[in-house]
Amino acid sequence: MKIYLDGKFVDKAEAKISVFDHGLLYGDGIFEGIRLYSGNVFRLEEHLERLEYSAKAIMLKMPWSRKEIADATCETCRQNGLTDGYIRLVVTRGVGDLGLSPWLCPVPSIFIIADKINLYPQEYYEKGLDIVTVPTRRVNAAAFSPAIKSLNYLNNILAKMEARQAGVQEAIMLNDQGYVAECTGDNIFIVHKGEIITPAASQGALKGITRGAIFDVAREIGVPIREDNLTRYDIWNADEAFLTGTAAETVPVVKLDGREVGNGKPGPIFQKVLADFRRRVVTEGTRI
Ligand code: PMP
Repeated sequence: MKIYLDGKFVDKAEAKISVFDHGLLYGDGIFEGIRLYSGNVFRLEEHLERLEYSAKAIMLKMPWSRKEIADATCETCRQNGLTDGYIRLVVTRGVGDLGLSPWLCPVPSIFIIADKINLYPQEYYEKGLDIVTVPTRRVNAAAFSPAIKSLNYLNNILAKMEARQAGVQEAIMLNDQGYVAECTGDNIFIVHKGEIITPAASQGALKGITRGAIFDVAREIGVPIREDNLTRYDIWNADEAFLTGTAAETVPVVKLDGREVGNGKPGPIFQKVLADFRRRVVTEGTRI
C-alpha cells in the first residue's frame, strides 16, 4: 500500500510522522473521510471545502491549493489500484515542542490513505439497527464546534463505548440542551407523517456530506425534507429513522432506547432513499 505523505508516496511501513506532531500530542489537526465508488470520488469538492472550513476554524493555514489536494487524493487511489474504497485525508498542525503553542509548529503535515472499504454488515441494512441514547453529551458548540472535523474524537469515542456497553452498535448523542445532535460517526434522520426531518447542524451535528446528499435524494424522490429540533420522544414516535455517513452510507434504525421505531422494520421511505443514494454514488463524483 502506498500512502501520500507530505508530497511523496511512501510504503505503508515507511509512512510515519513525528511523536512531536501536535496532531498526535493534542489532537491538533483535521481530517476527512471520503468514499470512492467505481472510480469516482463522491463529492470531493464538498469534502475539500469542509476541510478548508475546519482549517480556518482552527486557524491552520494549509499551504496547498484545493486542486493540489484533490490531485493528491485521486493519485493516491490510482497508486493503490483502487476503484472502490475509503479515503482518509488528514492534516496535522505539524511538529512543535511539548507545549500547546501551535505557532511553534511551522509546517503542517498532510497524509492520505486510500484503502478497501470495510463495509458494514449487510444485515444492518436489511434488519436495521437497535441503538440507545448515551449519557455523554455532544460537545457544546461554545466550547468546541462539532462542525469542525478535528482529530479529537474522544467525545464521540466515549459515546461509542457507552453504546457498546449497552450491547448496541451506535449511540444517539444529545446536545447540552437535551436535543438530539447526531450519532458517534453518523447523522440522524427521522420520517414522520411523510416528511423527512434531521437536526440542524447548529444543534451539534457535523454537516455531513452524506446528510447533504440526502437533501438532494429527498427532492429527487419527492419527499419533503427539513431541519428541526428533535427530542428522543420524536424518534421513539417516528414512522422511520435512519443514519447517514460516508462509511455507513444510509442505514435504518429500528429501535431506540428499547422502543421500536415505526413497526420495527426498515420503512418504505428509507428504501427509496437508499435506492436513489446508491444510484447517485456511482454516477456522481470526480473521476480519479
Ligand atoms: N457525524 C460525525 C461525528 C462524523 O464523524 C461523521 C463522519 N463519519 C458524520 C456525522 C457523517 O458525515 P459524512 O456524511 O460527511 O461522512
